[in-house]
Amino acid sequence: MISGRQAHICEACVKLFAEVISNEEKAAKTIALSTLPTPVEFKENLEGYVIGQERAKKVISVAVYNHYKRLITLRKGVEIEKSNILLIGPTGVGKTLLAQTMARFLNVPFSISDATPLTEAGYVGEDVENILLRLIQAANYDLECAQQGIVYLDELDKLGRRADSPSITRDVSGEGVQQALLKIVEGTVANVPPRGGRKHPEQQYIQVDTRGILFIFGGMFDGLVPVIRQRLRKTAIGFGAKQDRVEELSDDEILAKVEPDDLVHYGLIPELVGRIPVIVTLTHLDEDALIRILTEPRNAIFNQYEHYFEMEGVRLSFTDQALKAVAHKAHERGSGARGLRSIMEQTMLDIMFELPERKKAGYISCTIDEETITCGKPPRFCKPAARRKAK
Ligand code: ADP
Repeated sequence: MISGRQAHICEACVKLFAEVISNEEKAAKTIALSTLPTPVEFKENLEGYVIGQERAKKVISVAVYNHYKRLITLRKGVEIEKSNILLIGPTGVGKTLLAQTMARFLNVPFSISDATPLTEAGYVGEDVENILLRLIQAANYDLECAQQGIVYLDELDKLGRRADSPSITRDVSGEGVQQALLKIVEGTVANVPPRGGRKHPEQQYIQVDTRGILFIFGGMFDGLVPVIRQRLRKTAIGFGAKQDRVEELSDDEILAKVEPDDLVHYGLIPELVGRIPVIVTLTHLDEDALIRILTEPRNAIFNQYEHYFEMEGVRLSFTDQALKAVAHKAHERGSGARGLRSIMEQTMLDIMFELPERKKAGYISCTIDEETITCGKPPRFCKPAARRKAK
């Protein structure tokens, strides 16, 4: 008997209550049709975080919705084909962000892995099952929860034929990894080493059913555009005008015409391609999109800095030209939106360093001009009186 001041409870009841709570928690974590967001709701949520990439947002919303509907029917014993997804596009344009935002909205475990260190058993590197270990860790070792999670596997293209390889045949070890990957992607009970690393015979494994896990793959697929262009040229032969059009299309437009066969030509094994029915391409981000990324998403970089300044009682603003300059610099670096943060950090370091002193000295606003970004000119700090005078 456990006694409090006014009440007593016996051990059996404590156990019973614990069981009821744990069952309720489990039910809350299990995705049901009544709680599953619709594709429109998925997309609306993405709008808050991902700028542009409209088609990708729509495709991924439908694919994720279908995946979880499939998972619900799977629980009733009905098997439907999996809708794993491949996101193809340049670096820093929102591939990981899309997958991550979907998982956060659904409140399911999410893990990010990289295909580059994966190797076939017997070679130096990582076993494919380690991808699943990361998901289990993200689910706090709650296996049931992990089994309905989302895995993002980046750099899938690195498992294809190496672009720099002089041989036109596929990289052999890459193909072995693809075979191993195929098994967990299509749905199997995988043996996952609890501490990662290489599997060995005497080890106890965590058994993970991968049928409910959604795999989202990402990759740049450098060198895929010429493959597609070549195919389009071949089909356009004899139709002079059509052939001209192929030459006029931009790389983004060509990439959007990717077909499963192009990926096989690139070096992915047909069986694996067959298990990834949803293929969507993302486009390069232009300077306007980069400006929007700085200011519009809910967790936009500019808003984060604005918040730091607000905490000191100082109002931060960037002129339009300053925002343009940040976007221009990032665009020149060619790493999509990735460059934005480092440019902002470089710019803001000295300013943040002296911000508390500025506040003590009575300054209430800080304006960043184009020259602060382009040549490191100090920003304009203003005091209340100075602002009134300026008016
Ligand atoms: P990748 O396409 O290489 O996977 P990420 O999704 O990791 O790129 O993007 C890197 C960072 O750049 C993200 O964390 C995000 O802050 C920003 N970013 C990239 N693309 C977008 C986008 N379309 N909208 C908003 N932010 C973006």
